[in-house]
Amino acid sequence: NPGKKKYHPIDDAFWKKSERVPYLALAKTMELIENTSGRLRTIEILANFYRSVIVLSPDDLLYCVYLCLNKVAPAFEGVELRVGETILMRSIAQSSGRSVEMIKSDIEKQGDLGIIAEQSRSSQRLMFQPAKLNVKAVFDKLKEIAFMTGNASQSRKIDKIKGMYVACRFAEARYLIRSLEGKLRIGLAEQSVLQALAQACYLTPPDQNYPPEIIDAGSGVAPDRLKVKLDNSGLILKTTYCEFPSYDKIIPILLEEGLEALPKRCQLTPGVPLKPMLAHPTSGVSEVLKRFENAKFTCEFKYDGERAQIHLKEDGSINIYSRNQEDNTTKYPDIISRFKNAVMDNVKSCVIDSEAVAWDREKKQILPFQILSTRKRKDANEEEIKVQVCVFPFDLLYLNGESLVKQTFEDRRTLLRENFKEVEGEFVFAKSMDSTNTEDIEEFLEESIKGNCEGLMVKTLDVDATYEIAKRSRNWLKLKKDYLDGVGDTIDVVALGGYMGKGKRAGQYGGFLLACYDPDNEEYQSLCKIGTGFSDESLQKHTEFFKDHIIEKPKSYYRYENSIAPDHWFEPVQVWEIKCADLSISPVHKAAAGIVDSERGISLRFPRFLRIREDKTPEDATSSSQIADLYNSQDQIKNKKLGKTDEE
Ligand code: ATP
Repeated sequence: NPGKKKYHPIDDAFWKKSERVPYLALAKTMELIENTSGRLRTIEILANFYRSVIVLSPDDLLYCVYLCLNKVAPAFEGVELRVGETILMRSIAQSSGRSVEMIKSDIEKQGDLGIIAEQSRSSQRLMFQPAKLNVKAVFDKLKEIAFMTGNASQSRKIDKIKGMYVACRFAEARYLIRSLEGKLRIGLAEQSVLQALAQACYLTPPDQNYPPEIIDAGSGVAPDRLKVKLDNSGLILKTTYCEFPSYDKIIPILLEEGLEALPKRCQLTPGVPLKPMLAHPTSGVSEVLKRFENAKFTCEFKYDGERAQIHLKEDGSINIYSRNQEDNTTKYPDIISRFKNAVMDNVKSCVIDSEAVAWDREKKQILPFQILSTRKRKDANEEEIKVQVCVFPFDLLYLNGESLVKQTFEDRRTLLRENFKEVEGEFVFAKSMDSTNTEDIEEFLEESIKGNCEGLMVKTLDVDATYEIAKRSRNWLKLKKDYLDGVGDTIDVVALGGYMGKGKRAGQYGGFLLACYDPDNEEYQSLCKIGTGFSDESLQKHTEFFKDHIIEKPKSYYRYENSIAPDHWFEPVQVWEIKCADLSISPVHKAAAGIVDSERGISLRFPRFLRIREDKTPEDATSSSQIADLYNSQDQIKNKKLGKTDEE
């Protein structure tokens, strides 16, 4: 941007056109991001780096993006980069001449193996200076490491890591080791990476035919117009990514054809999981009726299992993906082998949205979620499966080469029913009822609860009834039995820290500080303390689990008040589903601060632990705006009585 002060994030990490991008350029960019707190500034830093890559070495853009996300493949390929601490410590020790004990004691003091690796590196003496690292080479080696399995792989991993580590300059060691640990800790969310990538591509178009906004901005004229265009580019890329979450395909198109080509070129395809449509909570039948006053809608049972996106490809292969696009194919060999019984002959390819639910074959009834969660998560052997599942399909998103997401739900549902057939206890259409009468809905809700379901999903049928990929839509409402308790929904939170227990809970955590996630500011905001709903055994398990995730200091992106600081801070690593009696304005907590009250946040009263949500990542926790919505809808029930203040 020639109109602004020149900005060089990568000073001594320059490289020439067509050379591979030095890893140092990326490491320095990460260092800058780590030292920056504002989201817009972070995006600007990253976009500038990507622009340099686009101009000088476009072939490396894909690897730069992957390394910023600490991934080596799309989520649905299930390749996980996580090397154990022991292997990392041994690699650092062997190549720095320090002992593993010394490194261990450093970890106890300062907790961050990346920083320790960086500091340890300076003491090495090498006869020959190894070749400088570049992004592509590091990416390739990380990917190789991610694929290494078995006992013998340990020493091969150590050799590979040492080879890279000895070549590290400046902050490279910090980010290399953190990447291998599986956490970069620079506070960079995927949404920011997408925005930065879109921004970089917009500002550096493939044909060098610069749009007028960019030229005007150079003379300092049109920042507003430019901002709109940048936001819009971000939106195009984020929307495409939801429907087709694969950088492997998106980035080459971005580089060769530009942003505008994305929506046409990257559409829903069997074999590539899409981000699912989500629902809004409601506080009762009257709210549903008010919302859908003039609309045609249907109520479906809300099954309590695991979301299963079933993809049938033209070649006959079937994949099953989770709510978060993880590949669950090897978890459900039983669903796959029986799927043919439910498909009509004319169906060659399809994508079905469904819920997989634990099923009691003898009693012919649904079993609770807890039973389903005992199933093996990977590589299940069909003969050994004890917990049977029944699939309840509720939507059809793709059929025989055509995406259906823009069609109405009524049409999609008809196609689902016409092209698939029910098989008792195996494949059963989600039970539905189209009446809009209050008593009928109440009765259907009762029936769903008796049938071991969580309540109802209420969906528009014809107007505003497309499948809204990745959106929490107001055209899907969830009506859980929880609404009878005052709050329409359970809440998914992240534990930021633990308070040591007293009395019989001594030696383990007795309580935790919980937070919701604010995606706009990319921060975790404290929501409440929790100490209820745990058995002694489960507290012990949580204590064990968090042992490996304790950090010295709270993250820069934790919002909380000092008075409630826990004894130990944790990395944001796990999502818990909790219940509460109600939500109130809090003088202490920071959740949704600025939304309902200009300064104070919202807190939960009488929170109770329900379960760990394995299928959600911390960034999928309930968002601040959802917390504000829950607070407000509760106010309506209480005739807009003002919230009480927190008890703390
Ligand atoms: P959220 O992010 O909305 O909190 P969640 O994963 O916590 O999502 P719920 O809010 O409880 O889940 O409800 C949505 C989930 O309900 C869907 O993701 C799906 O797995 C499940 N579900 C069960 N039955 C249906 C149905 N008939 N239609 C749509 N979703 C259903």
